[in-house]
Amino acid sequence: ASKLRLDKLLSESGFGTRKEVKYLIKKGTVTVNGEQIKDPGFKVDPEKEKIEVNGEPVIHIKDIYLILHKPAGYITSTKDKEATVMELISDVPRFEKLFPVGRLDKDTEGLLFITNDGELAHRLTHPKWKVPKRYYVVIEGKLSENSKNLLEKGVKLGDFISKPAKVKVIKVHENTSEIEIEITEGKYHQIKRMLKKVGNPVIYLKRISFGTLKLGKLPKGEYRFLNDEEVKKLK
Ligand code: URA
Repeated sequence: ASKLRLDKLLSESGFGTRKEVKYLIKKGTVTVNGEQIKDPGFKVDPEKEKIEVNGEPVIHIKDIYLILHKPAGYITSTKDKEATVMELISDVPRFEKLFPVGRLDKDTEGLLFITNDGELAHRLTHPKWKVPKRYYVVIEGKLSENSKNLLEKGVKLGDFISKPAKVKVIKVHENTSEIEIEITEGKYHQIKRMLKKVGNPVIYLKRISFGTLKLGKLPKGEYRFLNDEEVKKLK
């Protein structure tokens, strides 16, 4: 764990702006391990030291973890000319420090994991960890046995072959089908390219899980913070 300035810690923990917390500190309302500290630049380790304001323990909300049910029409990026997913979480404290982990196309819906934990984000997107991502897909036509086998074995997409996918047919309609497909990679437009390659272009695409995270009944356009157990499982 790293040390940070007392004023920064208090400000990040919701005790006010940097200016306001400096005032609190100078007034002598803040103690570190029971000792009054009046220097706003005093370095503390919030994981190891007991920090209190007026006798009230400071809980440092350092890391933020949430899932968003992304609607179609938003770009998965922190900055773009067009509307980004960040607009949908702009009321989260310090949302400007957050970023999406992995990408969904503009027209893709579903689970997007968003955090400010760079280390975890890096790990979850690294191919080595093979984080499974599950999608609900509406495709054109009927998925033939041959196509299903191809998806389950690996499809040649340009210069790479997709890793074996898990495929489940949910419902077959006259001209379309509903399927679920799980992949452990995240190449550009991967699901769309895989299904196009086997002759069943994607009509609608929605991610329903990401690793241990499930979209569940989270309404479209809304987000929720992960609970401690969900965060623990992710790590
Ligand atoms: N595969 C795609 O083709 N698009 C997505 O948004 C996600 C996976």
